[in-house]
Amino acid sequence: MNFEFTEEQTLLRKTVRQFVDAEIIPYIAEWDAGGGFDPKIWKRLAELGLMGVCVPEKYGGAGMDYNSLAIVCEELERGDTAFRTAVSVHTGLNSMTLMQWGTEEQKEKYLLPQAKGEKIGAFGLTEPGAGSDVAAMSSFAKRNGDHYILNGQKTWISLCDIADHFLVFAYTDKEKAHHGISAFIVEREWAGFSSKAIKGKYGIRAGNTGELFFEDVKVPAENLLGEEGEGFKIAMSALDNGRFTVAAGAVGLIQSCIEASVKYCKERETFGKPIGEHQLVGQMLAKMEAGYEMSRLLVYRAGELKNKGVRNTRETSLAKWQACDFANKAADDAVQIHGAYGYSDEYPVARYLRNSKAPVIYEGTREIHTMMQADYVLGKRADKKLRRMLQSWPFE
Ligand SMILES: Cc1cc2nc3c(=O)[nH]c(=O)nc-3n(C[C@H](O)[C@H](O)[C@H](O)COP(=O)(O)OP(=O)(O)OC[C@H]3O[C@@H](n4cnc5c(N)ncnc54)[C@H](O)[C@@H]3O)c2cc1C
Repeated sequence: MNFEFTEEQTLLRKTVRQFVDAEIIPYIAEWDAGGGFDPKIWKRLAELGLMGVCVPEKYGGAGMDYNSLAIVCEELERGDTAFRTAVSVHTGLNSMTLMQWGTEEQKEKYLLPQAKGEKIGAFGLTEPGAGSDVAAMSSFAKRNGDHYILNGQKTWISLCDIADHFLVFAYTDKEKAHHGISAFIVEREWAGFSSKAIKGKYGIRAGNTGELFFEDVKVPAENLLGEEGEGFKIAMSALDNGRFTVAAGAVGLIQSCIEASVKYCKERETFGKPIGEHQLVGQMLAKMEAGYEMSRLLVYRAGELKNKGVRNTRETSLAKWQACDFANKAADDAVQIHGAYGYSDEYPVARYLRNSKAPVIYEGTREIHTMMQADYVLGKRADKKLRRMLQSWPFE
């Protein structure tokens, strides 16, 4: 057991923090209000090596360990949830899934440019009639010689208008239920593909989220990821990595809530003293701090299991569930501490509260994670070794 960060990790945190302080925080209120961020940020994320931080160097990444990815996510979400969400889908849900399940050819063609940040990846699982209940999906891919014909619709897909490559899940055999779902790598440029952003989101307004449409999209057979019928397992293993990044980001959001609240507690006076000296206000700060430390430990434990190359669905689910709940509560309390001023754009805490809600919904809702944990405790569920496991770290 080692609670120390390595020198490399400390430097990485410093680099991302400086970037966020200089290039995100001064502009984020404007981007949040305008519904998107400056596309130049993608280039900067790539220049800093943040688009493939835990991807092996031979595939264009920085070759760092999985807790380094957690550090990147923490620091990005300290700036805004939209940037962490981008890394979650690009690296956590897409690139790491290619690392785990892709053939050498698929890694060369898709993972390498993604890890370098030359291409952007996203993840299309959710449909209008299938969110928590993944198997209720209706997208279908029919084999036709050397390709598949894909039809269907996905919704609430992060980076829908921005990504170049999508991991898309569709039935190839409806009779087989979960075992009839397959995973495909789909390119934006292919005929029959289109996307449309969702307007009027409650939070993560600087981020792009929306729908994907597939009308007779011709997908080459070599773009099947894993085997036919393995899509459900691939989707769930992708979520083990996505949820890890969401949990780490939530830690960063709690950190922002603490920073903003401590500053305000020292500035604002009522009844002749700074509000931080009122015990009930101090109690809110203390609870934020507890949530911060507990969430961090859960995240780094999950990251350490990833480094060791062992299944971590249970530990990652617990980290995601708890960290997101703590972040949502911390953001609510941060607004409370700011009183009426928190209820406006004058301070960032209202944005934190809006942003903290989606992570309680995506990548497994609070209720789904609660039920998963109950099943583990009751012995109704156990994590078994998968046909393809995520590579352990250090990479070969
Ligand atoms: C900002 C944002 C970004 C997203 N990005 C992506 C993305 O990139 N890719 C992607 O594929 N998806 C994405 N999603 C979709 C997200 O993963 C789904 O919204 C999520 O899985 C929940 O599905 P749903 O919204 O259909 O809710 P539902 O599944 O319809 O659930 C509705 C409510 O019922 C509860 N519920 C459902 N089943 C049960 C049960 N068995 N027991 C108890 N309670 C239950 C849920 O917890 C929830 O409270 C995103 C969502 C948001 C908000």
